[in-house]
Amino acid sequence: MAAICAAREHASVTILEHNDRPGRKLLASGNGKCNLTNLRAEIGNYHTDNPELIRRCLSQFPVSETLHFFRELGLQFRDRDGWIYPASDQSVSVLQVLLMEAQHLHVKIKTQEEVTGIHKEADGSFLVRTATWNYPADKVILSCGSPASAVRGSSDTAQRIGQSLGLQTVPFLPSLVPLKIREPFSSRWGGCRVHAGISLLVDGKEVSCDCGEIQLTESGISGIPVFQVSHDAVLGLAEKKKTEAILNFWPDGGTGGFFAILREARTNSPWKTEEQLLAGLLPDRLIPVLTGICRKNGGSSSDLLQRLASLVCHFPVTIAGSAGIRQAQVCSGGISTKELTEELMCRRVPGLYVTGEALNVDGLCGGNCLQLCWSTGYIAGRSAAKTSCIREKSSFMINGT
Ligand SMILES: Cc1cc2nc3c(=O)[nH]c(=O)nc-3n(C[C@H](O)[C@H](O)[C@H](O)COP(=O)(O)OP(=O)(O)OC[C@H]3O[C@@H](n4cnc5c(N)ncnc54)[C@H](O)[C@@H]3O)c2cc1C
Repeated sequence: MAAICAAREHASVTILEHNDRPGRKLLASGNGKCNLTNLRAEIGNYHTDNPELIRRCLSQFPVSETLHFFRELGLQFRDRDGWIYPASDQSVSVLQVLLMEAQHLHVKIKTQEEVTGIHKEADGSFLVRTATWNYPADKVILSCGSPASAVRGSSDTAQRIGQSLGLQTVPFLPSLVPLKIREPFSSRWGGCRVHAGISLLVDGKEVSCDCGEIQLTESGISGIPVFQVSHDAVLGLAEKKKTEAILNFWPDGGTGGFFAILREARTNSPWKTEEQLLAGLLPDRLIPVLTGICRKNGGSSSDLLQRLASLVCHFPVTIAGSAGIRQAQVCSGGISTKELTEELMCRRVPGLYVTGEALNVDGLCGGNCLQLCWSTGYIAGRSAAKTSCIREKSSFMINGT
């Protein structure tokens, strides 16, 4: 995106990519379908150390512009409740239209070139170092993403290069990631999927919540609602705060509604055990966990149904950690957005721009992360090309989406 926007402003652009081809993470996105933007992408969907800057980026190149940009490149869309995918339902379509446009604009793509350092010359220009070459450049756009995921090429280059240039960086932490829980019963519910609510508490205070299909795994919890609260969970743990989640396995009716259903079922079939009463209501692997806890906690058998209903709607788990950076879709952390001008140029290193996940911004699921890449890529690409060049023929070094 940055390369295309710079080349459209008549800059001579070179992408340095250490993989055998650019865009591997883009190909993996959205389960291979690429959820490329979200009709409701707004600043509230992002975590960052400079919300005002990110809000401006999103308003300078909003979702409507993203759709227009890609439509012009030949892409049509599929709208799933505001989550936008290519009509082909294949992420390769998104990558292909970008590569076609880059090629049309004569952007050079050098693959298997790992950037190891960026050196600022006395005249203000740059030398971008790889194992085999030193590339001179008037401007550099750092679009090297984050170390999140097992996708080949994911790296902490932004952190290393940022630090080497004296920029403020924030440690990369996994986000949009499954969570591990401390309680031992999770080994029994592994493989279960349940429509549920999740409320994340840090030091006893709710900091985020979501609802949808939650996956109960052998080590904890996963699925989109868990991803949506995972940033706050990982941060809470990093700050050594008490981090818990309350799961609600009957989010639409609440404790009262669930108790009423159980009571009616008992009236209809007084011979049924509690497990049998729950059989038509909840996934089978969850039921013995719930009844086991209720019986273990003690209390009279007369109010067992009431206690079951309370537990179903208020099921506490202690967060022990995340599944780790290789299981994460994105990372929080990167180059601090406080370092940047509105054009996304580093104040302390004029001529160096940063985009996408290399920045200390992470979005919620639903196409928000890629929307951030399109907006920041557009702004950085255009700005780098437009600001006065110190040599007659400028060249740009860019990696990534
Ligand atoms: C499994 C998965 C699913 C996802 N699904 C979605 C989704 O549906 N919607 C959404 O909005 N977001 C999704 N994301 C997140 C989204 O893909 C990323 O936020 C986005 O790709 C980041 O773009 P970027 O250009 O900043 O970095 P990347 O896409 O990571 O690109 C960085 C590039 O730089 C290269 N590079 C890194 N270091 C160096 C170096 N030292 N030298 C040379 N090259 C280097 C890398 O090889 C890579 O090609 C998903 C992520 C994953 C892992």
